[in-house]
Amino acid sequence: MDVLPVANPTKSFWLTAEDDFATFRSTPELPAEADVVIVGSGYAGATTAHYLLPQFKGSVLMLEARNVCSGATARNGGHLKPDLYYSHNDFREKYGEAGAAEIINFEHAHLQAMKELVEGEQIDCDFVLTRACDVHLHGTAAERAVANYTEMCKNPHVRCKQDVQLTQGDAARVISKVDGSPVCVTYTAGQLWPYKLVTAVLRKAVAAGLNLQTNTPVVATERLGDGRYLVRTPRGAVVAGRLVLATNAYTASVEPRFRNKIVPIKGACSHIVPVSAADRAPHLTNTYGIRFAGADTDYLINRPDGSVVLGGAKKHIFPYKDRFYNVVDDSTLIPGSEAYFSGYLEKMFYTWKGVATHADHVWSGILGYTDDTLPYVGALPDEPRKYVIAGFHGHGMPRVLLCARALAGSLAADAAGVAGDPAPGLADIPAAFRITPDRMTATENRILQSLQPAPVPKL
Ligand SMILES: Cc1cc2nc3c(=O)[nH]c(=O)nc-3n(C[C@H](O)[C@H](O)[C@H](O)COP(=O)(O)OP(=O)(O)OC[C@H]3O[C@@H](n4cnc5c(N)ncnc54)[C@H](O)[C@@H]3O)c2cc1C
Repeated sequence: MDVLPVANPTKSFWLTAEDDFATFRSTPELPAEADVVIVGSGYAGATTAHYLLPQFKGSVLMLEARNVCSGATARNGGHLKPDLYYSHNDFREKYGEAGAAEIINFEHAHLQAMKELVEGEQIDCDFVLTRACDVHLHGTAAERAVANYTEMCKNPHVRCKQDVQLTQGDAARVISKVDGSPVCVTYTAGQLWPYKLVTAVLRKAVAAGLNLQTNTPVVATERLGDGRYLVRTPRGAVVAGRLVLATNAYTASVEPRFRNKIVPIKGACSHIVPVSAADRAPHLTNTYGIRFAGADTDYLINRPDGSVVLGGAKKHIFPYKDRFYNVVDDSTLIPGSEAYFSGYLEKMFYTWKGVATHADHVWSGILGYTDDTLPYVGALPDEPRKYVIAGFHGHGMPRVLLCARALAGSLAADAAGVAGDPAPGLADIPAAFRITPDRMTATENRILQSLQPAPVPKL
């Protein structure tokens, strides 16, 4: 119970698009039974429903603890930025050359998949296909970038390497617009309004038969003798033929075995505008990842209206474990984040010098970090009718969509009695994302180690 989403979360810029749909309930009462119950109405829950409904004849119910799409998806940076090189060597060490490439190729495939979804369904969500620019300001980050880029380029299984360009020296400064940037790396990325994307997908799913119930937290589940589940909520219980946990950071609230595997981590984000309406915002041609040392990173997208969504402020988070680790409270801000974000653009980009900015929205959100940094996707090994699509490690935009498509295919095939190993559909996601007995019994949790506070560089 202590890991359920809290009441009164901070309001993100994206949530300015909220309307009556935020508290939507398809029916005044919960149904007594549903063939599939999806818990969570974020990016993962919504897209799973989207892909499931056309291929599944049974009833589908979605239970959401708070307003529709009020978790991480509604409070993120809107940045669809695949990691095409920076984690290559870590992944290669753990999953081999082909395994590392599988993850990179999968993330890269999200750019096209998202464009197809947005254009195919005619979703108005400010989607822009662009190039990301990673700026590596600290020596260790720059060295790591060069090493990973170099090895990624040698990996014969990586299909998208020609999309990635590394630049050093003066040219890096000009491309990045950041003084003192020794290395920058650019590649195709996307940006969008995540709340608009998800609510558009959900509205279509509701029209296609989804029963959506907001403000209905799942507080416990119980496996019944016939393999179905009793799903308990404060509004009554529902019997579910199959259960999908699209609960990301909060997954332990429904499945306690994820308590030390998917850990809620609090993050911060903001929306930045010039102080004076007369000031024309200098448009940045890239989206950005700005990396200092270690896990100290900021990220931003330049919106089509000239404003900027900027997240990170990890200098104010990672040195203070109590502020972020195992924290589900997104009703308060990270101390220091507002001031950090307000003056950021002018200090960071030489094209913004002289343009005073302020953060007109600052918010917090809860990310689901995992013990081995990768999401958990598929049925639980010992409970074949309980599926999980969660634990996106603060990096869900280039991972969730195709995981959801695969999970929906797997569930529909399983319901139709089609078996396989891996389960049908799940062959389409990286093997390292699938849920195995080994992953479920592993006890090592390297989250804190990977978030070691870094030396504070001058901004
Ligand atoms: C500040 C911040 C910035 C980020 N920036 C980026 C970024 O720029 N790019 C990127 O790729 N990723 C980013 N992320 C991560 C990204 O937002 C997530 O990976 C992604 O949104 C996960 O989607 P989801 O549907 O799995 O989770 P969520 O959107 O969190 O959805 C889970 C839903 O489940 C509901 N729920 C949970 N427990 C229960 C329960 N017991 N009963 C009923 N409902 C329940 C929650 O209320 C929530 O609505 C960021 C995250 C944060 C917080």
